[in-house]
Parts: sequence; structure tokens; C-alpha cells
Amino acid sequence: MSKPVVAIVGRPNVGKSTLFNRLAGGLVAIVENRPGVTRDRLYRDSEWLGRKFTIIDTGGIEFVNENTPITAQMRRQAEIAIEEADVIVFVIDAQISPTPDDDMIAQTLRRSGKPVILAANKVENFAKTELYEFYNLGLGEPVPISAVHGMNIGDLLDEVVSHFPEDIEEEVDPDTIRIAVVGRPNVGKSSLVNTLLGEERVIVSNIPGTTRDAIDSAFAHEGKHYIIIDTAGMRRKGRIEELTEQYSVSRSLRAVDRSDVILMLLDAGEGVTEQDKKIAGYAHEAGKGIVLVVNKWDLIEKDDKTMNRFEKDIREELGFMQYAPTLFISAKTGQRVTKLLDLVDFVAEQNSTRVATATLNTLVREWVHLNPPPTDKGRRLKVLYATQVGVKPPTFVFFVNDHELMHFSYRRYLENQLRSSFGFEGSPIRMIVRQKDEERE
Ligand code: GDP
Ligand code: GDP
Repeated sequence: MSKPVVAIVGRPNVGKSTLFNRLAGGLVAIVENRPGVTRDRLYRDSEWLGRKFTIIDTGGIEFVNENTPITAQMRRQAEIAIEEADVIVFVIDAQISPTPDDDMIAQTLRRSGKPVILAANKVENFAKTELYEFYNLGLGEPVPISAVHGMNIGDLLDEVVSHFPEDIEEEVDPDTIRIAVVGRPNVGKSSLVNTLLGEERVIVSNIPGTTRDAIDSAFAHEGKHYIIIDTAGMRRKGRIEELTEQYSVSRSLRAVDRSDVILMLLDAGEGVTEQDKKIAGYAHEAGKGIVLVVNKWDLIEKDDKTMNRFEKDIREELGFMQYAPTLFISAKTGQRVTKLLDLVDFVAEQNSTRVATATLNTLVREWVHLNPPPTDKGRRLKVLYATQVGVKPPTFVFFVNDHELMHFSYRRYLENQLRSSFGFEGSPIRMIVRQKDEERE
């Protein structure tokens, strides 16, 4: 489970970084510092009332072009917050009336539909301070705080935490990896789940799945925790007699939604089917980690080239998924099944890799220098700045002079470079191209 993300936005000088440091340092434990982000203080992991979350100070996001008007920068910071955060804390200076920039930010945030908490900062005298002017921002009741003196921060955090998405799997260790086993009927899903849950592993509990069409089993292996989402399990219980192909697709898709890593089972005798492509495409779009597992390998007559040929066929059929590792197993004999969990761990880690902004920008400059974008009608794409805005899947924003100049081939070039530098094996990556406003004019 990923932690909820809380973003702090607001005009310069309202006290965002004071609040950020207060949230991350004073009252709450700093779980971890995320290195390398601009000014080294953009992301922090924190905790309140037992709920872990990540805070972003959008004020710390710097843009390459220092000439960007402040208003445009603030708008972009708000957009990044909207894109990444589950809850947004909008900080205003309660010692002065709302400014046009406050209005602009409020409007941007309101349109997002995300929960926004209005923090009225620099309130030192709670009895005397009137906050009615701030109701006009249309964001509900302001929460008065003093970031400098640490006053009322607990109330603010209560409010923040109350907006976190309900997490029914809250008791589950956040490091637990959820594995969905998907594939056509008879490909060997039940056999694989049995093999995985058997052996020397301890089944911690049989926990009921949140849907009616899969069984979730928690287990531990070498000190790590997993939940296996078994779409074939219901049939094993005899509750569903015959499965139509169609039904098994929709069950698989729901299992994909709930998982971190997908084990996509393919039948060694049959190769990639249309149904497999559909499920793989869905997993790709959903940004999940994926391992292509070729099962029933024991049934194949092989020579030294068989595996390569299979691998090549799969790559051709699943062209959009070149990044997915393949493993040839036999659920029946247990061949290479023990390698599966190592691969699952690896892919889960790749899927949540974060790249430091400074490193990323140094590399991007190098890539552009090595292979400059071609000119288009006398104009050339300029990549101004790049930043990773999310994980699961790793998501990058590239700020450019004109997004129409970012052609497919150049985008693919950048993606290939990202992969050759950072791996992201078994994980899709997302690239968002944003145009710098002032360049448009
Ligand atoms: P940012 O630009 O929004 O990150 O703002 P800063 O956190 O850098 O704060 C701007 C100024 O406001 C600094 O001089 C802070 O000391 C001051 N400030 C921050 N919080 C408070 C507060 O609660 N009360 C008062 N009086 N000043 C504050
Ligand atoms: P599911 O419908 O995907 O859950 O498939 P099952 O696990 O029920 O397997 C379907 C059939 O394939 C069963 O008869 C299994 O014994 C057989 N099977 C599963 N895995 C293997 C394998 O690796 N090798 C061989 N030879 N048979 C397998």
C-alpha cells in the first residue's frame, strides 16, 4: 500500500516551509528523508495518530527558468500538488487580507475536487483573530495555526488525516507486496498458488478477499510479507462450477487493480492468447509491476534455443511490454518457482523507485546533448526541466518549450534513456509533457 500524500501549497512567505519543517520535525517523527529532491526538502515521510503519510512542500519545487512569473510558478506548484496529493493544505497568511494570488490558487484547487484544508497561518492570538474574509476563498472553514509557534498543528493534522482514503487493509504491513496471479483458465494458476503457499512457507492467515471473486492469502517468506490474490481460488472452493472465458477476464482485471505485482501466466504450449494481451494491456495502463510467467515448461520438448525462441515470440506478441521479465516454470514440478518471489521483490522495488531531481536533470541535459531533438519547421524542442512526480508507476513530468515539438520518437528516446539509467524493470513508466506557459505567448 502506498502512503497517502499531503501537499502544502500557497504564496511565497505565508509560512509553508515553516509548517513543513514543523510537521516533519517537531510534532511528528521523521520516518525517512527522501534525498536529492530540490533543496533537499521536498518530500518527507511523517506520521500522525498512527497513520503514515508523505508531505510535499510545493514551494520547494524550483523551475529552471528563473524568469517564470511567480503567479505561473504558483499555479504549476498547485497543479503538481493536485496531481500527486490525496489531501492538500493551502496555507494563507492570516495577518493580511486574501490576495489575488490566493484567489487564483483557491480557484485552481477547488476545481480539482481534491480535499483541501485551508490553513490560516500566523495566528498568534486565537481569541482576537477574525478569519471571516477567508471564507470567501470557497474552501470551507479556515483552521487557524501558528507554524512558528507550533500552535493548533494537532487540529490541522486531525483534519488532514480525516480526509485520507479509507484503507480497509490498514492492518496489513505497508511493506506487504500484493501479488495477483492471472491468466486463462487451466493455465495453472491454482497449481502455482498451491506451490507458492506450500513448501517451507508459513501461511499467516487466510484473509477474506474484498471481492467475491478471489481469495487472498497472506504468507511470509524470508521475513517478507506477501498477499497472493488468487482468482482461481473460488473454483477450488467449489463455489463456481464452470468459468466462461469472459468472466475470468473481468475477475483478472479486478485482481490487477488490487495488486502491486502481477504474475501473468502463459501456457508454454499455447503462447500468448488474445485474452492474455487484454489483461497485459490493462496491467500496463494501470501502472503495475509485471512478470511474464511461462508455465508448464515441463511439457515442452526443448533444445538449447527453445527458451530464446519463446521469449522472442512473447516480446513480439506483447510489444508494449518489453520491460517485463520472463520466467519459465513448472507449477507441477516446482521448477524455478522459488525464483518467482525474488523476481516479485525486484519488480515491486523497481515499480516504486524514485529518482532524485538533480540527478535526473543532469542526465536529461546529457541525453539531449548527445541526441538533440530534430528541428520541426525551424523550431526545436527544448527540455527545460524534468522531475519525478510519482511512483507505482514511476511518473515523470518533462517541462518543455512547446509540447507539440515532443514527437513520439523523441519521447521513446527519453524513455529508453530513463530505462537504461535506472532500470524500472518489470514496470511501466509514465511521461507527462508540460509546456511552460510563458513560452506559449
Ligand atoms: P514560505 O515561503 O511560504 O515557505 O514561508 P516561510 O516558511 O519561509 O515563512 C515566511 C516568513 O513567515 C518567515 O519569516 C517566517 O518566520 C514567518 N512565519 C512563518 N510562520 C509564521 C507564524 O506562524 N507566525 C508568524 N508571525 N510568522 C510566521
Ligand atoms: P487454473 O485454471 O489456471 O487454476 O489451472 P490449474 O492450476 O487448475 O491447472 C490446470 C491443469 O494444468 C491441471 O490439470 C494441472 O495439473 C495442470 N498443470 C498446472 N501447471 C502445470 C505444469 O507446470 N505442468 C504440467 N504438466 N501441468 C500443469
